[in-house]
Amino acid sequence: PLKKLKNGISPVAPPKEQKDTIDFDSNKAKSTVSITVVGASGDLAKKKIFPALFALYYEGCLPEHFTIFGYARSKMTDAELRNMVSKTLTCRIDKRENCGEKMEQFLERCFYHSGQYDSLENFAELDKKLKEHEAGRFSNRLFYLSIPPNIFINAVRCASLSASSAHGWTRVIVEKPFGRDSESSAALTRSLKQYLNEDQIFRIDHYLGKELVENLSVLRFSNLIFEPLWSRQYIRNVQFIFSEDFGTEGRGGYFDHYGIIRDIMQNHLLQILALFAMETPVSLDAEDIRNEKVKVLRSMRPLQLDDVIIGQYKCHTKGDVTYPGYTDDKTVPKDSLTPTFAAAALFIDNARWDGVPFLMKAGKALHTRRYSKEIPDAYERLLLDAVEGERRLFIRSDELDAAWSLFTPVLKELEDKKIVPEYYPYGSRGPIGAHYLAARYKVRWG
Ligand code: NDP
Repeated sequence: PLKKLKNGISPVAPPKEQKDTIDFDSNKAKSTVSITVVGASGDLAKKKIFPALFALYYEGCLPEHFTIFGYARSKMTDAELRNMVSKTLTCRIDKRENCGEKMEQFLERCFYHSGQYDSLENFAELDKKLKEHEAGRFSNRLFYLSIPPNIFINAVRCASLSASSAHGWTRVIVEKPFGRDSESSAALTRSLKQYLNEDQIFRIDHYLGKELVENLSVLRFSNLIFEPLWSRQYIRNVQFIFSEDFGTEGRGGYFDHYGIIRDIMQNHLLQILALFAMETPVSLDAEDIRNEKVKVLRSMRPLQLDDVIIGQYKCHTKGDVTYPGYTDDKTVPKDSLTPTFAAAALFIDNARWDGVPFLMKAGKALHTRRYSKEIPDAYERLLLDAVEGERRLFIRSDELDAAWSLFTPVLKELEDKKIVPEYYPYGSRGPIGAHYLAARYKVRWG
């Protein structure tokens, strides 16, 4: 649980960094954390956020005094929210125990306020309710923006301007997509920074919360055997593969606007690449790690069109079953050229990695998943880090800029030239072009 609140920040615009370190232990009895899930009626809130918050509560990781508010336009009472949330909570954390009692206790701490995302008045009502629950305690506030990105700014503006008093920190978790290219991402960051400073923005990439990804740094930096081998001297190529064995299944509307390069490569796979390839950080502090990630991203060559293969899955019949193609999804335009598959070769121009191809492959409706099971704790880990103010696994704006610089030119070229994707059957290994791309660098996909 919480030890200290560092760099607490006033929630009222214009934000200023609060330099004083607040001793949480001495304020513990008097302090409280209010967590507001904005977009609480949505899929992500139900599937991931509330279950993760419950798991943290069950494990005793949330502070003694906390309140959770759901906020969305849908009309709901507190009881209806609790009913909705209760359907997605599980006792998976400790199957031997009956966690029903804990669930009841958790649900009693959950409330709901219905409002518009652009209404100062509605957010002021929420603020009033939060204050009632905070009951004069030293209050810290976490907002989780689980809403479509076009309404982020309104929600942040209203949440920050309607806060009628300032005590502890205010932090905002933002879900991807962080823009569609360099310009839109920079515009989003500029707008967010009108109301928040960088320390208050927690850009979440749930891949970074996965234990396997976390273990990468441990594997690398805690084993003397690996560090001397971790370079072009001993590594011929590096591959990052994301594979899903299902298609968009009726949720293609969102995906069609982004495509697999923006949805998976530019963020999740590139983040893992940066962790894999960065130099040893000065310390394991968030800023030192993020500095090294930015450095390695800036040492990379922007992706070239020649080094990218795009694909799109088509309908495929196997036995009695017909699997639909991407454009059979009713939420996708019939003439869509959006890639559901991409393979790319990237290069890092530094002494450690000069000449080593870093290959990425990401696809939907392929023959296999990477992992057979969901690894459930990424959101728990990240939510706890946000409450604790641990920024190591969140993406800083300069990292984001560097990541977009690598992909924006090729994305523009693909779209301007209307490059037609290579079609591959649903459930196959993806387009053959991916093998030619790898072969050009004398590599076979693992
Ligand atoms: P939803 O589409 O379910 O939207 C969440 C809520 O936002 C809805 O319940 C709705 O609440 C409100 N909303 C939806 N569309 C609009 C609109 N056009 N105008 C105003 N309000 C709207 O999103 P998800 O819950 O799936 O995802 C939330 C965020 O997280 C998105 O940014 C998404 O890209 C991102 N994300 C989602 C993942 C997932 O697994 N679902 C994974 C990774 C990221 P109401 O009508 O009650 O106001």
